[in-house]
Amino acid sequence: MIWNPECECMSTAARQAMQFARLKNLVEHVYNTVPFYRQKLDAAGISPADITCLADIAKLPFTTKADLRETYPYGLLAVPQAEIVEVHMSSGTTGTPVVDAYTAKDLDDWAEGMARTLNGAGACKNDTIQNAYGYGLFTGGMGVHHGARKMGASIIPISSGNTQKQLMLMRDFKSNLFACTPSYALYMAEQAKEMGIDVKSFSLRAGCFGAEPWSENMRKQIEEAWGIKAYDIYGLTEITGPGVGFECEAQNGMHINEDMWYPEIIDPDTGEPLPDGEKGELVFTTITKEGTPLIRYRTRDITFIIPEACTCGRTTRRIHRLYGRTDDMLIIRGVNVFPSQIEHALIEIQGVEPNYLIVVDRNQVTHLDEAELQVEVNPEQFSDETKEMEALRSNITNVLKSKLGIMMRVKLVEPKSIERSTGKAKRVIDNRKL
Ligand code: ADP
Ligand code: ZN
Repeated sequence: MIWNPECECMSTAARQAMQFARLKNLVEHVYNTVPFYRQKLDAAGISPADITCLADIAKLPFTTKADLRETYPYGLLAVPQAEIVEVHMSSGTTGTPVVDAYTAKDLDDWAEGMARTLNGAGACKNDTIQNAYGYGLFTGGMGVHHGARKMGASIIPISSGNTQKQLMLMRDFKSNLFACTPSYALYMAEQAKEMGIDVKSFSLRAGCFGAEPWSENMRKQIEEAWGIKAYDIYGLTEITGPGVGFECEAQNGMHINEDMWYPEIIDPDTGEPLPDGEKGELVFTTITKEGTPLIRYRTRDITFIIPEACTCGRTTRRIHRLYGRTDDMLIIRGVNVFPSQIEHALIEIQGVEPNYLIVVDRNQVTHLDEAELQVEVNPEQFSDETKEMEALRSNITNVLKSKLGIMMRVKLVEPKSIERSTGKAKRVIDNRKL
C-alpha cells in the first residue's frame, strides 16, 4: 500500500500544474520577504512576473552552500522567527554548518516525506522502528522520528552508537525495521557476529540506509548479514533532511517527493539544465517550505533522473543511486575520481571488504599527487603468506588502473583495522596542502 496515493501517484500533468503554482507562489513570497532573494533576483534582472511556466525555473539564479554560510544563522528566514519551531544544522562534512529552520508546517512536510520513505521500505503503523541515526542537530535522528510518529509506528529512539544495546533492543522489542548509515549497519552486523548473536533470528524485515554514499555491493552485504531488505534513502539538511527521496520495493532508484522538493539536474560546469536521463548535479527548489525556502539549491550531489516509470505505481520521478558529490571528487594526477567509484571497483575483487580509506598526499619533491588506498582484507582471505597477499594487492592495483585510469598505492590492512563510524564513514584523508 502506498502511503499517500493522491500525491505520489498523480498524473504528470496534474503534478506539473501543482509544481508551477507552488513555484510561482514561492518566488513571489521570497521576493517580498527575504532581502537576500530580492537582491539576487534584481541582480539577475528577473522579477516574479517572469515565471510563467515550470520551465521558467531555469531563469532563476542558483543558491549555493556559500550563500547559506554567509546568511548564517537566520538570514534566509521567510517568516517571523516566532513561527520557527525547530532548527537543524548540517553535520558539517564539508565545512561550517548550515541552518535549516522549520515552521510547524515544514515539520509536517518533513514527516510526510519520511512517512513515505518508511512506507517505501514496507513499514506500517503496526511496526516497531529502531532509529539508530544520531539525534541532535543532525537531521537523521529527528527526521526518521517525525516520520515514524506520523505513521503511528512504535519508535525506539536509541540514536547511533551503543551497539550492544542496539542489538539487545532489536531482539527484545522485536524491531521490524531500523534506520542508520549503511556503514553503521555493516559495523553492527560485524559486532553481532563477534558476540555470537544471530541477527537473522530477530524480527527485522528491512532497513532504511542513507546519509552517505554506498554501493550495490554494500547493499548485498547488509542484506545477507541481516537477512533483510536494505533500502537507499536520500536527503540533506538544507532541503529538509532525510525523506527527500527513497527507494520503493523495486529497489531501483529513489522516488523524489517532488510535490514538495522540485528536482532539476544541471551541468555542474555551465549551470545549464540537463534532460532526464543525463547525469549531472542535483538541484532542488523547496516549493512548499516556509521557514528557510531555497531556490535552485545546488546540492553538489551527482546523479541522474531515471526517465522510465516505476513498476510500483508511484509516478514521482526517481534519481539513480548517488555517485558522490562534486566536492568529494578527488583529482589524482588530473583524473577525476569519486570514492564511490573506487568502492564499486572493489566489488569485483574477491577477498576484500568494502572498508577502505583513501589517503592523498602531494610529493614535496616531484609535486605530484600520490594516493594510497587502504583496503581491509576479509578474515577468510587474510593470510601470512606474503605471496598470496602480494597477488591480491597487485590485482587491486590493476583493476584501479584499468577501470578508473588511476594509479594508487594499495595497502592491504588487517580485518577490522580501519576505524568504524556509527554515523557517516570517513573515506578520504587529504593531506595535500593546496
Ligand atoms: P553534510 O553536507 O554536512 O554531510 P547532511 O548531513 O545534510 O550534511 O548530509 C547530506 C548529504 O549526505 C547529501 O548532500 C549527500 O551528499 C549525502 N547523502 C545523503 N543521503 C545519501 C545517499 N542515500 N547516498 C549517498 N549520499 C547521500
Ligand atoms: Zn517505485
